[in-house]
Formats: sequence, C-alpha cells, structure tokens
Amino acid sequence: MTNTRPRVAIAGMSIESSTFSPHRSGWEAFTLRRGGELVAHYPFLADGAPLRDAAAWTGVLHARSLPGGAVPADVYAAVRDEIVATLRTQQAEHGAYDGLLLDIHGAMTVVGMDDAESDLAAAVRAAVGPGTLISTTMDLHGNVPRELAEVSDLITCYRMAPHEDAWETRERAAANLLSRLREGGAPSKAWLQVPVLLPGEKTSTRIEPAASIYADVARVAELPGVVDAALWVGYAWADEPSCRAAVVVTGDDEDVIVREAERLGRRYWDARDEFAFVAPAAPYEACVATALASTARPYFLSDSGDNPTAGGAGDVTWTLARLLAEPAFAASPEEGGHTAIYASLPDAAAAREVAKAWAEHGPGAAVDVEAGARVDDGPHGPVRLGGVVEHVSEGDPDAGIVAVVRVGGLRVILTERRKPYHLESDFTVLGLDPRNTDVVVVKIGYLEPDLYDMAADWMLMLTPGGVDQDLLRLGHHRLTTPTHPFHEFAEEPPLRATLL
Ligand SMILES: [Zn+2]
Repeated sequence: MTNTRPRVAIAGMSIESSTFSPHRSGWEAFTLRRGGELVAHYPFLADGAPLRDAAAWTGVLHARSLPGGAVPADVYAAVRDEIVATLRTQQAEHGAYDGLLLDIHGAMTVVGMDDAESDLAAAVRAAVGPGTLISTTMDLHGNVPRELAEVSDLITCYRMAPHEDAWETRERAAANLLSRLREGGAPSKAWLQVPVLLPGEKTSTRIEPAASIYADVARVAELPGVVDAALWVGYAWADEPSCRAAVVVTGDDEDVIVREAERLGRRYWDARDEFAFVAPAAPYEACVATALASTARPYFLSDSGDNPTAGGAGDVTWTLARLLAEPAFAASPEEGGHTAIYASLPDAAAAREVAKAWAEHGPGAAVDVEAGARVDDGPHGPVRLGGVVEHVSEGDPDAGIVAVVRVGGLRVILTERRKPYHLESDFTVLGLDPRNTDVVVVKIGYLEPDLYDMAADWMLMLTPGGVDQDLLRLGHHRLTTPTHPFHEFAEEPPLRATLL
C-alpha cells in the first residue's frame, strides 16, 4: 500500500513585514526547517495523527520569522532558490510530487519587490510543473493578488483573530489537498478583492462584525459543491497595490462559488464602517489617565504603534519616555505611587550593560543606561533608564538577555533582542507579578488570550510607530485607488468574482 500513497512536499516562507518600519528582517530573524524537522513541526503530521500516514511527506525548506521590517532581497532570493533547487533535485530522483503544501503568511515585503509570495508561488509552480496540486495556507492578514490565487490550486487562511485556529487551518489545507489528490484534481476558484484595508485590531473575530462574517465563511465552506472558503483582511502596514481584503471560494460548482464569493465580498464591503477597535482606543494621555483612575487591576494598555508581532521595530521609545516622566509612576508604592510594567524594550548594548552590573553587584544593582531607538528613532530618541536591577537572565530563545530595571514604581523589561510578551509566564519567569500590578503596558495590538484573561480592563493606545493603528497618518501612496478608508469612492465598487 505504501507505494500508492501520494508524495507531498512542504515548503514556504512566512513573515509579516511592515514597510513603515526601518527594521530589516535578515537571516537572524528567520528559523529555517528542512527535511524531517520541518515535517515534525506540524502537529497534525505527528506519529499516529490521521494525516501522517495518508501521504509520504517531504520537508523541503520553510523559513519562518517573527513579524518585522522588510526582508532584504538577497535573503528572500536565497530561500526561494533553495526551495526551487531542492524540489528540482528531489523530482529528478523520485519523479514529480503529487502535491505541495505552500505555507506562507501573505504579508511578506521584500525590499524592491511587490507581491513577494506571488513570486515565490510562481517559482515553486515552475519547479514542480503543472501536474502537482499546490495547496496554499495563509494568515488572514495576508494579501491575495490574482497571481497568487491563480498559481494555487487550493488556497485558504485562518478564520480566527487572534489565530487560535492556525494549526487547524494548515491541517485543513493539507486534508483538502489529500482529498483532491484522491478524488478530484484541481477545483475551480472564485476570487475577488474587496477595496477595503483595515487593521487587524478592528477586525478581530472576537467581536462583530467580523465574528458573524467569519462564521459565514465557515458555513459557505460546508455548502455542496464547495471545497473551502476564505476571507483575507489583508495587511495594512505595507504600501503595495495588492494590500486589500480578498475572498476565494474553492469548489466544483462554479455557480455556487461565484455567488458565495461575491456575497461574502459584498458583506465585507457593506460592513466596512462597522469595524471598530477591539477595545476602547484613545491617545496615550487619555489611556493612562483612565487606567490610573480605574479600580480595575491589572489595567492593560496596548502600546500598539510599535507592536513587534505586527511588524513594528519593537524599540520605539515614545511611550516609555512618557511613562518614565509620569509622576504617578515616579514614586514606589511605599511612597504612594502606582506600579506599572513595561513590556518590552529591546537594546542589545543596554541589556549587556545591565547584565554586567547584575553580575558585579547582584540584585538591586544601580544602573543608568541609555536604551532603545537604535532601529526606529523616528517617534523618539533613546531613553535613560536610571534605576535598580531586579532580574537578569540569559538564554531566552527569542530575547537572549532579559533584564528588569525598576525606576520608581515602573518595571521595564529590557531585552537583548525583540520578543513578544504574550503569556503570563513570560512575566512570572522574570519574578514579575502582573496580576498584582496597577498598569501593564505591552507592545501588542489586541491582547493574546493569556493577557486577555489576566486583564481586569484594557485599552488600546494609539501610539506612533511602524504599525501605527491610525492608518491614515502613515502616508500610504501606492495602494490601488480607491481603497477604503484611504480614498473617496465616486461609485459602488463592482465586487465581481473572477473564475480562476
Ligand atoms: Zn495575522
């Protein structure tokens, strides 16, 4: 039986990269997986999992990065060329692959290039030939230009933001690929772009209207004649013509997939003015005043403009500089002040200096270091952290050195490299107690589940940075005209699906 199993390759490159951030996502940003290590990365391909033995899986190469700035052209080209060369070599030895799972984010920006994922998909298609079924799996914050949809036989994305269904989506893409290999060959696709570009923080599926719209997407996928349905919000912090929402409904009943793609597209368009921030959103001053006046503890504030998990450089100091100057946090609680945690500020030199002070003097060592704004000094220059060191650890896989410097009632997490703070354990492992802190400020947009559960209350601070939530002040100038909310519409857009 084993020789009748389809042979399926896995390849891809995923990053969400802001073109408004001066950060560059070079090799150090990427984790590369090949061969068995890549296959083992997918929980649904673990030993004993139903899909494991349904095909012979080969890991080609996958490059994954935290969100960041644009990818240098040579880094992207090297990943693409290795994928292509490996596919060619393997196929020369063993014959053409039956299928390929293309695992991408969809919001990769490569310096000097538009639609990098279309280029990658086209290169993969050229390497495997027309007979291999390609199933593309994406984040819903990716963009879907026609070329990408065209080259993919199947294409889908997450239906939840936060992305609690990330693995489930990849598994669905793999399962649909296998079932088409068994029984159907390439289905038809109805593709359309919706001229709306919104930030993820306004399109969380926890709240309306996205909750109902995405429930509708899942319902469409179950209709007879339909294989899959997907709706992309698109990526708001790149400035490319294809940055906008998109719909693809895949299946064999062309009337149904066109009708449903156009209906979903129309529904998204009609709801465009109903999307609102997932939490009360306000400028810095109003957020801090509200948090201080509230009795809800801990009160979470998202420093959203420099959210590294959306592509911010992570070392913007604009908000931290203001917190350091805030009288409420200048005094420790014993002296009547409020407590706060700031997560986080990456600065390699400053983190090493603090680690040195800790090594020499231990807990309570006094430091006075300049930190931050090494990469993105647009909104504000470096800040001075003059305080006491309460914690230093080394070897965090993302952050390297992690230090906690207390300045009055404010505890600042200083790291060697960028790291998102998404889990309660990210704090408690440092000896911090976010549940018993007055105000917790995190470089994030919408709160990830762990933080959401901890927060007694929460506001989204509209702060500056590479992923500013106030899209209109970023200065996009290459979007397709018109795109809501950037341009005025003289008439209703046609919202017609194209069969691919
Ligand atoms: Zn996303």
